[in-house]
Amino acid sequence: MKKLFKLPILLILLLSLFIAGCSNSKTDISTSNNLTSGKLVVHYIDVGQGDSILIQTKDKNFLIDAGPKENEDKLLSYLKKINIKRLDYVVATHPHEDHIGGMTNIIKTYDIGKFYAPKVTNTTKTFQNMLLALKDKNKNINVIKPGMGDDIDLGENTKVEVFSPNSSKYDDLNNYSPIIKVTYGKNSFLFTGDAEKLEESEVLQKKYDIKADVLKVGHHGSSSSTGKDFLSKVSPSIAVISCGKGNDYGHPHKETLKTLEDAKVKVYRTDISGTIVITSDGNNIAVK
Ligand SMILES: [Zn+2]
Repeated sequence: MKKLFKLPILLILLLSLFIAGCSNSKTDISTSNNLTSGKLVVHYIDVGQGDSILIQTKDKNFLIDAGPKENEDKLLSYLKKINIKRLDYVVATHPHEDHIGGMTNIIKTYDIGKFYAPKVTNTTKTFQNMLLALKDKNKNINVIKPGMGDDIDLGENTKVEVFSPNSSKYDDLNNYSPIIKVTYGKNSFLFTGDAEKLEESEVLQKKYDIKADVLKVGHHGSSSSTGKDFLSKVSPSIAVISCGKGNDYGHPHKETLKTLEDAKVKVYRTDISGTIVITSDGNNIAVK
């Protein structure tokens, strides 16, 4: 019994240390990417069953999630291959292994500008390791909340908006996932983590402008996400599903694929195509 006790206490301690900081650490010097200006590139990285998305502008790198631990080496080698030297912004959407399993390695490997997570904990070793890695690097967790998108500055011609989480407590950790919109010129991308229909309906109620050209489909294409009303408001021409080949959950679910098909959305899947790279020049979108 004694052992069971220790972990929560350690977590509460660590959290109070970090979240108390809720810092406004100054924006540090950025190393330039090899990207030519006038482009935004979004990499939906194939991490098997999980999510990891890198958003790149000329000067900035923004990582959303780091996939499961079993594919952490795959993620790191991809980031190395595209010559990533620094991550200006990192978001851990919610504390599930398929999103933060690879995060400890990312924190240890990269110089990180600002780190964001929703205000929720988990009792898993994975989550504890992530907190310890942050502590080792003296990094605070910035609590992610609606309206804080301006804190994430990706440079000229870009805008970041954060629409959720809108409640302070959810039964399902998935619903803590921030729904984030990144706009570049006339193009926009919506990222949803594992947000379920409950969170989608909260965002709809708030009447945010969630219209986007490209939708990262919520929760790996589970039928518990991507409600028809939500999809019709986003009204994307392209959808990306991040999931592992032959995964245990049967993701993506056929109901979600049908909803997307009925809405005439072109679907790309990491389990079929591997890493999917979508580029915007501010007017047009190209998929690779
Ligand atoms: Zn997930």
